[in-house]
Amino acid sequence: MVNPHQLFAHLLRQLYRRAAPAFAVHCIHVALLAVYLWRELPLTLFLTWLGIAMTGGVWHWIASLRASRYIAENTLKRGSIMPDVLAAGAAGLGFGLTALLFPYLSLTTRLFVILMQGAIATSGLTRLSALPLVYAAFLSGIVVPLVSVLIVVDGEPGWNAIPAVLLTAISLLYSAQLLHADLLDNLMSRFGLENAAGEDKLTHLANRRRFDITLEQEWSRARRSRTPISLIMVDVDFFKKFNDRYGHQEGDQCLEQVARALSQSARRSIDLVARYGGEEFVILLSQTTRDDAYALCERTRMAVENLDIPHQDSALGRVTISMGGVTLYAGKDMKAVELVRTADKALYRAKATGRNKVAWYDPSLDEEGEQ
Ligand code: GH3
Ligand code: MG
Ligand code: MG
Repeated sequence: MVNPHQLFAHLLRQLYRRAAPAFAVHCIHVALLAVYLWRELPLTLFLTWLGIAMTGGVWHWIASLRASRYIAENTLKRGSIMPDVLAAGAAGLGFGLTALLFPYLSLTTRLFVILMQGAIATSGLTRLSALPLVYAAFLSGIVVPLVSVLIVVDGEPGWNAIPAVLLTAISLLYSAQLLHADLLDNLMSRFGLENAAGEDKLTHLANRRRFDITLEQEWSRARRSRTPISLIMVDVDFFKKFNDRYGHQEGDQCLEQVARALSQSARRSIDLVARYGGEEFVILLSQTTRDDAYALCERTRMAVENLDIPHQDSALGRVTISMGGVTLYAGKDMKAVELVRTADKALYRAKATGRNKVAWYDPSLDEEGEQ
């Protein structure tokens, strides 16, 4: 299934794709209009217009930086597109308000302004249609002042230009909807393919392959952002004996239940719970301190205990898990496998100290291993 949070992040990334060139294009549009307006406007009016037109572009640029930061830090709130709608509206308005200058402009310049506004509205289409509401705000910023001016200002072009402007706006909005639908289709099939390749069939958790890829990505990100990253290895206790007594099918059902308990414990969208192989699982927690990760482990261990799946050949009489965790700040010369190696050592310790336990890695475990 597609995670809506992930989908929204993709749409927003598309919206602000190549923000720097987009800002450059904004400046070019302003410059082109300026060449014409400069000759016909009093200096103060010209400078005021220039300020307003540039403010919209800068606002939009700032919104793109904000969104990129939220996407990178994974702190995006689902559905919070109001700042993006306002920024796009301001960017459109920067150009739309040019129509207010019509009383000062010759017919040729007025027509040039309308032509430019059409070109500008079209140029925003490919990026902004990722979120049609954002594009609608941009387009309204351009069209509403233009149509208002055409209604009230005397001289050519007058009312007769309004149907053409409105029809163009409607066709652009329709195109934005179509582009948005295409984008959604592409994203859905991409997620679908990723899921097909990255999902464990029995438990529906991420499989080992997806875990390996995500681990590398999150490790690099933790290194860049200097945030702690935690990895927990989970192993079902005495599972061979469980299979031997209750049969392989019961064993499979037990694994499904344990997997569900694990994924319910780690619910943030950036947490990854994966099947590492057999009766072993991993939980990858980005931006998570040791204390938080440890608390999550204890909760998870209890949750599995509370599933109360009978297991006569275990000392506790029910199915339990052992967990080994580690929290690291990724160093420059460290590799992601270091997380797996150290978490595995901690798991070994949890098993050795009686099972149904959480153990955390500390460097003394390395020395134990060397003896
Ligand atoms: P420990 O407490 O030390 O972890 O003991 P254990 O018996 O759980 O560990 P061991 O590694 O000896 O056995 C793991 C067993 O898990 C062996 C295998 O039969 C079982 N197993 C692995 N994958 C599956 C699976 O997909 N389905 C089922 N039903 N059993 C599986
Ligand atoms: Mg095992
Ligand atoms: Mg086991």
